[in-house]
Amino acid sequence: MTDIDWTQALCLGADREKWFVEGTTADANADRAEAKKTCFRCPIREDCLTSALAEEQGRGESGRFGIRGGKSSKQRYEMTRRRVGAQSKQQRVA
Ligand code: SF4
Repeated sequence: MTDIDWTQALCLGADREKWFVEGTTADANADRAEAKKTCFRCPIREDCLTSALAEEQGRGESGRFGIRGGKSSKQRYEMTRRRVGAQSKQQRVA
């Protein structure tokens, strides 16, 4: 992975609590949606997500925190599970 220019991160200077909000109240959901919207406008979103997935390798869902690269901890966990499942399937076929 190339060096990531984190100075371009749109969450810098934003209300970072919105990336780590918990619960399912309307306010919590609105905060999460706003954080994800910001991520999807972020110029380093792909790198941010790739970095999170690499850093969290081997962790379960409970070992991942916050929104990174526009994905929740649960979404990143599911992405990893699908990827590992697809790799296992490829290895069985090969
Ligand atoms: S993608 Fe989201 S979490 Fe990652 S640097 Fe950009 S704004 Fe921050």
